[in-house]
Amino acid sequence: MGSIGSRLQEVKRRIALACQMAARSENSVTLLAVSKTFDADAVREAHAAGQRAFGENYVQEALAKIEALADLRAGSGGGIEWHLIGPLQSNKTRPVAEAFDWVHSVDRLKIAERLAEQRPPGLPPLQLCLQVNISGEASKSGVAVEEAAALAAAVAALPRERVRLRGLMAIPEPAADPQAQRAPHRRLRELLQAINAQQGLALDTLSMGMSADLEAAVLEGATIVRVGTAIFGAR
Ligand SMILES: *Cc1c(COP(=O)(O)O)cnc(C)c1O
Repeated sequence: MGSIGSRLQEVKRRIALACQMAARSENSVTLLAVSKTFDADAVREAHAAGQRAFGENYVQEALAKIEALADLRAGSGGGIEWHLIGPLQSNKTRPVAEAFDWVHSVDRLKIAERLAEQRPPGLPPLQLCLQVNISGEASKSGVAVEEAAALAAAVAALPRERVRLRGLMAIPEPAADPQAQRAPHRRLRELLQAINAQQGLALDTLSMGMSADLEAAVLEGATIVRVGTAIFGAR
């Protein structure tokens, strides 16, 4: 199975290969290491191996890790970055606005409004993505495809010194076949392009692709891939 460091290298190799196939530059894709359910020591190990951006799903669990790893936050080039990728309830927005750098899971205006109100003025703007229910699954969270453009326009109109809308995130229905994996990622990219054209926005972020389908996502334009299992092991 190897160390976290060697598995990180393997994931980076997969990303580089997919970038090559897509004729994209390697640094056009950011690797978000999804550390949910793994402890602060595992994050510290990944950080020591050069990883900077970490994704968490559960607010309470994340806050404990953020506090335990506060020493990695500041410093030249050492700055760790925290991304919330799990569902966010409106009664949990304050600690998220105070402690995170990114939230990928905004699915309604009320959440974005609260994050904007609660983002401390001394911090850089909180970076936001709208989570889109791209496979149209009844049980899945995320804004419906048909409602995404209106939500994007409303979120983009919030005070830019507090929150900055960057793009779209999705968790497509799993598919084993690489061609089938590409279809929902392509739909998310096309939706981003349509929203930019219709609303006069310049959203630049597609958060898509996980351990099992990161190549398909990179081939369709992912700018952030969220990888857990392939780095930290099975949960
Ligand atoms: C857990 C999770 C991931 C990582 O999934 P892996 O299959 O372990 O790579 C990515 N995105 C979200 C939203 C997740 O909840």
